[in-house]
Amino acid sequence: MTAPSPGRAYSVPPEDACEREHLRSVRPPGWHNPEPADRYGLVVVGAGTAGQVAANAAAALGAKVALVEHGLFGGNCLNIGCVPSKSIIRTSRLYAEMRNAEQYGVQMPDDIRVDFAAVMRRMRGIRARISRAQSVRRMVAANVDVFFGDARFTGADSLTVDGSRLRFRKALIATGARPDTPSIPGLAEAGYFTNETVFNLTEAPRRLLVIGGGPLGCEMAQAFCRLGVRTIIAQERPLFLPREERDAAQILADSFARDGMEVRLNARAVSVRVEGGEKLVDLVTDDYRSTVAVDAILTGTGRVPNVDGLNLESAGVSYDNTTGVHVDDFLRTDNHRIYAAGDACLVDKFNHTAEASARIAVRNALQSGRERVHDLVIPWCTYTDPEIAHVGLYVRQALERKIPVKTFTVPMHDVDRAITDDDEMGFVKIHVREGTDHILGATIVARHAGEMINEITLAMVAGAGLSAIARTIHSYGTQAEAIKLAADAYERTRAASGHSSFLQRWMGR
Ligand SMILES: Cc1cc2nc3c(=O)[nH]c(=O)nc-3n(C[C@H](O)[C@H](O)[C@H](O)COP(=O)(O)OP(=O)(O)OC[C@H]3O[C@@H](n4cnc5c(N)ncnc54)[C@H](O)[C@@H]3O)c2cc1C
Repeated sequence: MTAPSPGRAYSVPPEDACEREHLRSVRPPGWHNPEPADRYGLVVVGAGTAGQVAANAAAALGAKVALVEHGLFGGNCLNIGCVPSKSIIRTSRLYAEMRNAEQYGVQMPDDIRVDFAAVMRRMRGIRARISRAQSVRRMVAANVDVFFGDARFTGADSLTVDGSRLRFRKALIATGARPDTPSIPGLAEAGYFTNETVFNLTEAPRRLLVIGGGPLGCEMAQAFCRLGVRTIIAQERPLFLPREERDAAQILADSFARDGMEVRLNARAVSVRVEGGEKLVDLVTDDYRSTVAVDAILTGTGRVPNVDGLNLESAGVSYDNTTGVHVDDFLRTDNHRIYAAGDACLVDKFNHTAEASARIAVRNALQSGRERVHDLVIPWCTYTDPEIAHVGLYVRQALERKIPVKTFTVPMHDVDRAITDDDEMGFVKIHVREGTDHILGATIVARHAGEMINEITLAMVAGAGLSAIARTIHSYGTQAEAIKLAADAYERTRAASGHSSFLQRWMGR
């Protein structure tokens, strides 16, 4: 493993053929910035998902576009987020299944083992391949002027990058977010990983402490645990994924325990020190203090928007360091020329929201659109095993808004395909406005919850209720049949109430 040094800059990616291809796509060596145009129709700051989608969309509309990036094209998702994490999760699932192969009637040799360097090489290969679609070359071919360097606003309609001044009619801030590191005494000195550095590992740590039980912490802790790393996860709150429904989070805690992960809930890391080459981390649970000894620490305690260093004051754009750039429902900042999209301004920090918000911002900025971000129906998923996906309202949110709720729940152990696959952990829960089939929201906990939630999202966007889902033929032998079973349950209640009122009328009551 790369030798630990103080602070975050703790490891660098191995310089192999995959990495060279990846870099050629996302930050070509020897790049020279072009001569800027007199004035751009749109200057986009940040070439992550939001920035790239916006630049492409604006160029397709015929606007003269500049795209400024100070790191790597593709931003978080491609380089240090979704793509590398999902690649590793795939291997960790495979290995977990191989260890359980006997349960499926397959004998495995005793010595199956993870080649961690090969796992990470596979991940780098996948990243290099996906980077081709998000490359600088493609952006230039789409007629976008690409600038590498730090963007800094110099007024209401201009910014500088690497000594060049870019004037604009409209600009989009798409600078994303970065890991929020907890201020734990001794952590920086001991050295730790974040998602910015952990994917550079070539050798697995023997023992890992993951601090934080949100989506990132949970996904990574389970993946490392399943890859054979002795993993402890410490979460300050009583349950993982605090945003999700309690029963969903409880299933996750059970699944972690089954994987052999040491789960510390209600546990706060309060100090770190290094002794004899080990990192000793003090955890406090209520009044009880304990110490864990590990070889590496990964923090996953939230993300903060990248707003500093942009000199937003000079552009008249207000922001704060925790919520990001202030925007209205049309994604417009205080400066009517400047919009924002993605993690830099949104509460829901997902790749698909970055993409959707970028499209809205471009239409509103360049085509005088009036599209509202609040109209978006946004699903999300945590890619643990089982996956936990959600869309729309939670029951508590519906009740806060005084909307009467009726919930239809189907446990996965009632679904034939989940039984045949041994994927019985979880449920489908669909919330409707009481007395109607109007879907308010849904939570799915299942092996493929991330795929399944899209059906509910489509129904919500199309205004189709549970009756329409009940009328829709679902292929037999899919786990998504759980959704149809929930809809059938709704139909039965409707039939029952219709039938009883008919009976009541018939009996003259
Ligand atoms: C480990 C991990 C796993 C994730 N998994 C998923 C997932 O499975 N599904 C999902 O939907 N989401 C996932 N996400 C979230 C997803 O990656 C982000 O929501 C998405 O990348 C946001 O896109 P963005 O364009 O807003 O920002 P980013 O992708 O962060 O892009 C912002 C870009 O702006 C650049 N920049 C910043 N400041 C400046 C400046 N001053 N000048 C020039 N350039 C600048 C940055 O270098 C960066 O390239 C994950 C995130 C992490 C960390």
